[in-house]
Amino acid sequence: MTDDREYQPEFGEGEARGARRSLARQMAKKVIKEFRLKSPPVDVVMLIRERGLRLVQSEVPGAVSGQLFPAQSEVFVNTRNRSLARQRFTMGHELGHWELRHYLEDELPADSYGFAGVYEAGGESEGRSSIEIEANTFAAELLMPGSWIKTEKRPLSSGRATELAALYQVSHEAMFYQLMHYKML
Ligand SMILES: [Zn+2]
Repeated sequence: MTDDREYQPEFGEGEARGARRSLARQMAKKVIKEFRLKSPPVDVVMLIRERGLRLVQSEVPGAVSGQLFPAQSEVFVNTRNRSLARQRFTMGHELGHWELRHYLEDELPADSYGFAGVYEAGGESEGRSSIEIEANTFAAELLMPGSWIKTEKRPLSSGRATELAALYQVSHEAMFYQLMHYKML
């Protein structure tokens, strides 16, 4: 992405571009549509396999939550002490790196977090690169499609938000941010 720099002189060293959140959401919506998914929970394991990626789930000590190995067409997800909701978000995140072709522009580091952190907050959180924000945004929209969420009656009660997190098999935190994004709370 170095070519963009002369047109965008405001970008600092190591930040060639901002996060393309709306592109990430569009890409997730396309996947939901392509597979004609209609109701939660989104079968993210199936989606990974349908993309020709091998899903490797195992217990590994340390902070790594997951990683995409594009050359091997492999998604690794760490299952150690991690809830199903967190593993699913990691799967969505790694699939996002694949769908958004992030590996073509950057070395992909191991992902050491799951859904923790404010993925909508952009540049505010340190150490959060554009591609990580995009992968998280993709995961959120994939696992909690806006068109499904918006069929709920507003404003949502906190009890219903909790029910939705269980229904969509996502964390309360991830559901909360998605509900905030669609102004459902
Ligand atoms: Zn990542």
